[in-house]
Amino acid sequence: MNQQSWNDVDHYFSQLLVRPDAGLTGALRANTEAGLPAIDVAPTQGKLLMLLVKLCGARRVLEIGTLGGYSTIWLARGLPAGGRIVTLESMPKHAEVAHSNLLHAGVAEHVEIRVAPAAESLAQLVSDGAAPFDFVFLDADKVNNARYLQWAMMLTRPGSVIVCDNVVRNGHVVDEDGTDESVVGTRAFLDAVAEDPRLEATAIQTVGVKGWDGFAVARVK
Ligand code: SAM
Repeated sequence: MNQQSWNDVDHYFSQLLVRPDAGLTGALRANTEAGLPAIDVAPTQGKLLMLLVKLCGARRVLEIGTLGGYSTIWLARGLPAGGRIVTLESMPKHAEVAHSNLLHAGVAEHVEIRVAPAAESLAQLVSDGAAPFDFVFLDADKVNNARYLQWAMMLTRPGSVIVCDNVVRNGHVVDEDGTDESVVGTRAFLDAVAEDPRLEATAIQTVGVKGWDGFAVARVK
């Protein structure tokens, strides 16, 4: 098996199961035109996020790492009427592109983009006494994921679901002595999840158009 085979299977699944959507394809096009890195989730993964939001019956979603809002649109597509997303992004240009993409996709009214380092926005949400989020998607700077988990635990409730992207990193997650800060951050996140008695969790490896990676899913008990 190689990258070409993974691409072929992903394209097959995408064409069969992920319906074309002008808002989503337009967002990817706009991201490329604006020079944003193509590090959004894959279409099949985006649809999984939408399904998870629906399966949890989530009404309030917190996303850390907006980029151009591709995953945000998928998350928004899973919300019931009146549902809400708060998405955190540190780079003003990414947030600007995301806002335009969310408008074009028809979901902007459900989404608040907070432009600041996520740690600052998370501290603000806690100090504002934000209502608990039902679903949290971690997809920003991996080095800080263990910190983001701590904030997420303050901003969720029993039954909330926390999904963390990119936990396999081409297999480097098993490099105990690795120095790559994203791997170190991912391992710290996974350790924190494993040690927290308030969480039940697993992690799944995936292959596809985004290579060999995976995600962790945790539920607050
Ligand atoms: N979730 C997006 C999607 O699938 O469409 C992809 C997000 S991309 C992997 C990560 C994003 O997190 C980038 O836009 C980056 O600017 C942002 N980011 C990185 N460090 C951050 C930080 N400390 N606070 C907030 N955002 C950050």
